[in-house]
Amino acid sequence: MNIILLGPPGAGKGTQAKRLIDAYGIPQISTGDMLRAALKEGTPLGLEAKKYMDQGALVPDEVVVGLVKERIQQDDCKKGYMLDGFPRNVSQAETLDRMLSELGQTIDHVVCIQVPDEELVKRLTGRRTCRDCGAGFHVMFDPPKKDGVCDKCGGELYQRDDDNEATVKSRLQVYGEQTKPLIDYYEKQGKLRQIDGVGSIDEIFARIKAVLG
Ligand SMILES: [Zn+2]
Repeated sequence: MNIILLGPPGAGKGTQAKRLIDAYGIPQISTGDMLRAALKEGTPLGLEAKKYMDQGALVPDEVVVGLVKERIQQDDCKKGYMLDGFPRNVSQAETLDRMLSELGQTIDHVVCIQVPDEELVKRLTGRRTCRDCGAGFHVMFDPPKKDGVCDKCGGELYQRDDDNEATVKSRLQVYGEQTKPLIDYYEKQGKLRQIDGVGSIDEIFARIKAVLG
């Protein structure tokens, strides 16, 4: 079973991804991780990607899809795989589809975890991080025993710039604008599986399993 996992920041995608790969025995393929590994190992595609990254340019779709192609032909992908963080837009999705059809493969399900924006803002702006040890807390879901103080080391908790309301809203807007055409693309292919992402981790995972079978 070949899956793409989509979801906005704060939707709990990472948590559900872990549950998915454990339950279905398929690897999670993160193009970000793969790019970093290819750079480190100096593979031909890694060197190609480096040329663009050194100039601060985006790595072309063909290079990223080339990495995915190498990866999904490895033994642990025989039962399938889950793509995470890719594709990000329709052009990448089309390049991916072309590559998969060359291999006689296809994407079976595009799981899209949906959470209303106001709920995402609540989740993301409530995060607090310890200045000293980096531990993470949440003012509503995982509050420290004492306001503003790290339970683990007594350090000061702060809100990262990424997590302030204006930044969060603009991240969500960018996500929505980039992802909407991608969602339409997979909906037309009949592969889109919309999942209500509000609820407990178990509840959400049960919804995912129900659509994947
Ligand atoms: Zn701490």
